[in-house]
Amino acid sequence: MKTKTPVDLPEGYLDFYKNLESWQNQQQIKLKKAYAPAPVDVVKIMDHSKRSVMQSVDFELDTQMFQEVYLELLKFLEEARPDTADQIEIIRSSSEQFAFEALPVRVLEGDGGYFASLAQKHNLAEELLIFTVDHALRPFLRLWAAPYRTAFTEAGFEVWDFAAVCPFCATKSNFSRIRVTDGRRFMFCDRCFTEWETPNVYCIHCGNANPYSISFLTVEGFPAYQAYICAECKGYSKSFDERQKAIRIDPFITNLETIYLDMMAQEKGYTSHEGS
Ligand SMILES: [Zn+2]
Ligand SMILES: [Zn+2]
Repeated sequence: MKTKTPVDLPEGYLDFYKNLESWQNQQQIKLKKAYAPAPVDVVKIMDHSKRSVMQSVDFELDTQMFQEVYLELLKFLEEARPDTADQIEIIRSSSEQFAFEALPVRVLEGDGGYFASLAQKHNLAEELLIFTVDHALRPFLRLWAAPYRTAFTEAGFEVWDFAAVCPFCATKSNFSRIRVTDGRRFMFCDRCFTEWETPNVYCIHCGNANPYSISFLTVEGFPAYQAYICAECKGYSKSFDERQKAIRIDPFITNLETIYLDMMAQEKGYTSHEGS
């Protein structure tokens, strides 16, 4: 089904991500069979260490399994994106020399230098290389984070006050939803699918909670899709107000289909504070 958005996205763009998400779900179901969740009190970790759970707890990653999922992802990409098949083939043949045990940490830490030199060494497309490692890791991250999902949403913002950072995997987020059931606002991590609460009138970047300096941008006809803008730090973040449509959305896809909100906010001089 084609989703209507104010700005046309490239042909097949959303379908590709929807298929990728389904592929990751399938991988997660397979991995689950050999997985026992670690008994971790995530609220205690968030509250006391002020560090993400991934920075505090050592989640076991079977390197062999990760490599298998990685190669499966290359197969998926070859079919889903035939235009990248040549590049994928080069990545596949070089991957025999990858240090698979090091890749997850490098991607989570956003270690651009590591991937730049790896790409250079094997003559690989750097962005595609990062994309493959990042997306092969996601089924593992989602599997690890899933048992604690309720604890995260119930913990509340008094416990975790780094609104723009995922309390599980420390990935930066710039997307939230206003929950249809009770109007509470939850940030969303597209890597591990963790959600965590943040106040409704609140800038996730600088903590500004003054209703006079926080407002919304929307496009006519699409009132549920909003960009919060902050006059204090010139930051913006995107949100979907589920109450306006009385539906529960897929935040992963909604974040992607609202690129027009990013463009609009950035044109007006606002920033997602990416990388800061
Ligand atoms: Zn996360
Ligand atoms: Zn701000």
